[in-house]
Amino acid sequence: RAKDDGRGVFRFFEAQMDARLQARRALELDLRAAFEAEAFDLHYQPIYDLAEERISGFEALLRWTHPTRGRVSPAEFVPLAEEIGLIVPLGEWVLRRACREASGWPDGLKVAVNVSAAQFTSIALIGTVQAALAESGLSARRLELEITESVLLVNGSATVAILHGLRDLGARIAMDDFGTGYSSLSYLRSFPFDKMKVDQSFTRDLTVEQGSGFIVRAVVSLASSLGMTTTAEGVETPEQLAWLREEGCDEVQGYLFSPPVPASELPALLAIWNGHKRRAA
Ligand code: C2E
Ligand code: MG
Ligand code: MG
Ligand code: MG
Repeated sequence: RAKDDGRGVFRFFEAQMDARLQARRALELDLRAAFEAEAFDLHYQPIYDLAEERISGFEALLRWTHPTRGRVSPAEFVPLAEEIGLIVPLGEWVLRRACREASGWPDGLKVAVNVSAAQFTSIALIGTVQAALAESGLSARRLELEITESVLLVNGSATVAILHGLRDLGARIAMDDFGTGYSSLSYLRSFPFDKMKVDQSFTRDLTVEQGSGFIVRAVVSLASSLGMTTTAEGVETPEQLAWLREEGCDEVQGYLFSPPVPASELPALLAIWNGHKRRAA
């Protein structure tokens, strides 16, 4: 009896696992097809400069609308694209599209592009970035590349060499989601980033939990002593904004200003935030 039950449970899990693998496999095929059909799009979220009181640039965020499932989160499909080796061509598409669109923006606005660890496995990345800049005519100084700490875990010294190559092109390098990875801080000695992006998990608890406030204050101070600027992600409330302004954070980004929007909505955002010099707080 007991033996039968055990086998039954096992079969149940096996069936569940099967279903999950099949769903994943299906999504994988859809993802490849979407890439072939160029069914991806970029949305842009403003990055607001607190000293200048204006939008200084936009972060490009990849969007995929699945034919039946609708919008799939990049948090779900980017890791899958990494696993199946699709992130290199997809990342190249993102770079080229973002540079092309940004080259039409006014006032030297910057564009920030997320670059996955899997794109850092080859120095070909430098050529890809160079080509995206050349074909769009975008000045390298207007391009910011966002990487996460995981990039440095994979292949430290090769990565640092690629980072220097990208910096030599004139691009800026930002550390994304700072404080959520597993790296030691020692990488900050081998590569000085231009910017630290404080992860939204810290911003969220800023005004409700003392510990998060201490951490963000320490990050702002560490970054500034090392010659880096700081951007806080996930700013949703005027209280968070006031706190960050008070503590000397350079830039903020979050739903308080705008969610990521299609490129067609950028002129309206610029009219609101940069045209009328309106203050957020
Ligand atoms: P990320 O680079 O840290 O991007 C910030 C994420 O926070 C975005 O999610 C954005 O929509 C969201 N966000 C912005 N403001 C707020 C806010 O006030 N509150 C909250 N709760 N969330 C906010 P999204 O667009 O879903 O992207 C998730 C992640 O997927 C990104 O995190 C990035 O790691 C990755 N990703 C997105 N686009 C690309 C891409 O083109 N290439 C690569 N390699 N990764 C990408
Ligand atoms: Mg980012
Ligand atoms: Mg982030
Ligand atoms: Mg993030």
